[in-house]
Amino acid sequence: MSTADVLPPVGFPTGGEPAAEPSAESPGAEADEPEGVDVDSYEEQSMCSVCGVGDSWDEDQILFCDECNVPVHQACFGAGAREVPEGDWFCDTCRLGKVTGKKIKAECIFCPQPSGVLKRTSDARWAHVTCALWIPDAQFLDVDGRDIVHPYAVHPERLSLTCNVCGEQMGACVQCTEPKCLAAWHPQCARVAGVQMTLTEKADGEVQPTIYCKKHEKGKKKQKKRSRESKW
Ligand SMILES: [Zn+2]
Ligand SMILES: [Zn+2]
Ligand SMILES: [Zn+2]
Ligand SMILES: [Zn+2]
Ligand SMILES: [Zn+2]
Repeated sequence: MSTADVLPPVGFPTGGEPAAEPSAESPGAEADEPEGVDVDSYEEQSMCSVCGVGDSWDEDQILFCDECNVPVHQACFGAGAREVPEGDWFCDTCRLGKVTGKKIKAECIFCPQPSGVLKRTSDARWAHVTCALWIPDAQFLDVDGRDIVHPYAVHPERLSLTCNVCGEQMGACVQCTEPKCLAAWHPQCARVAGVQMTLTEKADGEVQPTIYCKKHEKGKKKQKKRSRESKW
């Protein structure tokens, strides 16, 4: 078996928008859509904690950690989730806890967000896979396995940004991809809050992360509809 068969280069279909959107397509229905995101809803809890997509594919299923219950695609997690396990599956943090028999208190070096899936850093701390993917200067030493986060090139300017979700100024935030927009978030905080985030694979295989604030969201069906309606 080759791992290429089970692990597509990027965790989800490129292009950013998942095909299956929950359909509330009646005209005008989007007008009174609530602004806030109910992070406690069941749907939200079964979405991949890295890419935010709730769809599961045969070759890239969403696994739930049998200890902390975090949902994550096999490909989004990378090494450690390449094959669907026969029995229990544990994320890296919980697996270490099982092996050592201790409760591992893992905190992301980039953000204070308690939920989400973490991987080891090169200095034996922890970082969210999401944070490592969206913070441009962070990198994985094992790129294919999305393993061993190497944070040392993170620009000092990121440390001075304040997160729009948790309000904290620590770790590293990313700013809205729209030039000059000052909105900033910790990537995992943004994921939890439902901020629009995509990963697109460029021709050279490099992964390009984007993140957009509500004002600058791209390619949403309802957004196009709204602008068409506004011409009336
Ligand atoms: Zn995913
Ligand atoms: Zn876990
Ligand atoms: Zn984080
Ligand atoms: Zn935050
Ligand atoms: Zn923006």
